[in-house]
Amino acid sequence: MKKALQLESISKWLPTASKPIIISGPCSAETEEQTIATAKQLAATGKVHALRAGIWKPRTRPGQYEGSGAEGLKWLIQAKKETGLPVTTEVANAAHVDACLKAGVDILWVGARTTVNPFSVQEVADALKGVDIPVMVKNPINPDLELWIGALERLNKAGITKMAAIHRGFSAFEKGPFRNAPMWDMAIELKTRIPELDIICDPSHIAGNRELISFISQKALDLDMVGLMIETHINPDAAWSDAKQQVTPAVLSKIIDGLVVRSVSSDNKIFKDTLSILRDEIDHLDDEIMSKLAARMKISEKIGQYKKENGVTILQVSRWEEIIQTRVQLGKAMGLSPDFTSDLLKLIHQESIQIQTKVMNKTEARV
Ligand code: PEP
Ligand code: MN
Repeated sequence: MKKALQLESISKWLPTASKPIIISGPCSAETEEQTIATAKQLAATGKVHALRAGIWKPRTRPGQYEGSGAEGLKWLIQAKKETGLPVTTEVANAAHVDACLKAGVDILWVGARTTVNPFSVQEVADALKGVDIPVMVKNPINPDLELWIGALERLNKAGITKMAAIHRGFSAFEKGPFRNAPMWDMAIELKTRIPELDIICDPSHIAGNRELISFISQKALDLDMVGLMIETHINPDAAWSDAKQQVTPAVLSKIIDGLVVRSVSSDNKIFKDTLSILRDEIDHLDDEIMSKLAARMKISEKIGQYKKENGVTILQVSRWEEIIQTRVQLGKAMGLSPDFTSDLLKLIHQESIQIQTKVMNKTEARV
């Protein structure tokens, strides 16, 4: 068993009067005006505890806005002066770390594209040796829990104890409704492995759009995540990066108001985590049931074709009786009620007959 991480709770290094902890601000610091105006509107809501803004932006393709660079750090520090909010930004290498430390950035975060690369994480960790600054670590873009933990360990070994993890979803080959699949069980597994590690959810990068932010935020809170990092912009549609997922500070305020913050006893937390694991299991089983049913229907279709070629009727009563009898018995032995099994079989049989009828009545194209 590996030694657990030495951690200080987020309540120590980012104490807040309200829950959940809200970290918000633009995807990118674009101009001084935009950075400061966003910060002021956020501070005015009274619901935001730290200001975020990307200074160096890791873009998938070249030619997109790659951030203001160190110049933007001045805007961030000015925004801090004007609002009193602590500020945080992403660092991906030693030069970023040095610039942030010089400028007086309060909290750093390691981005998803950096967490995947142990060389980069080590470089950041080495640059932070002997420095007492909080660092948040986003999950790697690929769903690899070991990489996520590995990054936390590298920073912890360098002496960083004020840490939190940020769950921002995972890149998936099959595009679902999310920009980055949440894969909640990865975050739950992280919490199970390192219970004292605080996790913050980043619904903006999970959703990739504005509409799903509330839903994801609520789910994160229900899984006992302590905070949310949500991207905001004074004019989201005109944002230079991640325009689709940014909301105005006013909309953020409404999102926060709509959240139900449940006071989570540790029993309750285990209940939520367990429920989510069980629901995942149900989802997997349902997938299996659906694919088995689809496979069964394909075979029905083949049988229909075969019966047609041999001039045999679709329905053979004796076969149907045999199916009902054997399956109901089998179901009973497995703890399923006879009524349920026979109702289910009737539905399946109906569909199977319909498929075979279609095959039977299909006129073959003449050659
Ligand atoms: C960001 O927070 O703007 C960002 C680039 O995030 P991620 O590393 O999660 O893609
Ligand atoms: Mn972004």
